[in-house]
Amino acid sequence: MRDPEGIARTLREANSVCICSHVSPDGDTIGSALAMRLVLINMGKRVRVFCQDKVPDSLCFLPGADEIRHPEENTERYDLFLSVDVSDEARLGSCAALRSCCERTAQIDHHWTNPGFAGVNSVDGNASATCTMIREQMKYLDAPLTREIAECLYAGISTDTGNFSFDCTDPEAFRVMGDLLEAGLPLADLSMRLFREKSKEQLKLLGRAIEKMSFEADGRIAVMMLNRQDFEDCGALSEHADTVVNYGLETIGTQMAVLARESDDNRIKFSLRARAPLTVDDVAARLGGGGHNRAAGISMEGTLKATTRVVVRAMKERLQKEDKARKK
Ligand code: 5GP
Ligand code: MN
Repeated sequence: MRDPEGIARTLREANSVCICSHVSPDGDTIGSALAMRLVLINMGKRVRVFCQDKVPDSLCFLPGADEIRHPEENTERYDLFLSVDVSDEARLGSCAALRSCCERTAQIDHHWTNPGFAGVNSVDGNASATCTMIREQMKYLDAPLTREIAECLYAGISTDTGNFSFDCTDPEAFRVMGDLLEAGLPLADLSMRLFREKSKEQLKLLGRAIEKMSFEADGRIAVMMLNRQDFEDCGALSEHADTVVNYGLETIGTQMAVLARESDDNRIKFSLRARAPLTVDDVAARLGGGGHNRAAGISMEGTLKATTRVVVRAMKERLQKEDKARKK
């Protein structure tokens, strides 16, 4: 349930706020955190933003990105702990420990699966992005929308709506975009940065993944795997694989796609995608992951091949379930 009033009251009462983003940060969690940072600084508060993992290069241009700290660097206490776009406590990673340095906790998020783990919770599974909720939140705080804040919010809304193409893209997303453009958002420049330009390493890695792509279930599931050697050969980082899975789903005839990558923490990170009416959040949840209907993720221990077999089997079962439901 959205609770912009409760959050506004809690924020007004706090003089210092510790804002946290989720692990493997994306445009929505970073955009939300950096927008709230500017809003709260403008309100005269002491603010720090934390994230367990490095901000992807593609988001480093956002105002305040260079101010984001690793939780272990913290030496201060805060009145309030605020997590943004964090679906559950596990997604806080090592930021979870910062709660013991804060008097109260609150969160703003848009994941269905969020159990409401904070003291004050504003959670709406219907919101297209946490950043659209932040825009609404600003109205309850009488906070002016500056061009810098607009840039942060755009990063989140455009990321989570698949650049305004996913099912979740709703009138609210466009209404907020209207506000952002009025505030001076340089749309063409930012959309080039966020959705079109790619580093050479990223393109090399994409080529590798596509070359190795295989198909299961009569071509209905696209499977891509990237091992540590692939990353090394291409000089690429894990974040450079973040959108690779989409190419699997964009292949004609596929209904589901998965990218498995060996990540730096010695675990295998899975990105799952589906075309409507299929879903993958249920598949991910069965294996200890989570996410949205058509974009979900899992992190598993084991070898690349063995864990991928487990995930692909679960995806095939999901397909069979859908086929059965259609026949009825
Ligand atoms: P991506 O494949 O882009 O990394 O993640 C897609 C979505 O799945 C994200 O929005 C995130 O909410 C969710 N997600 C990704 N990895 C995990 C994970 O390991 N655990 C959970 N619970 N959710 C994840
Ligand atoms: Mn989000």
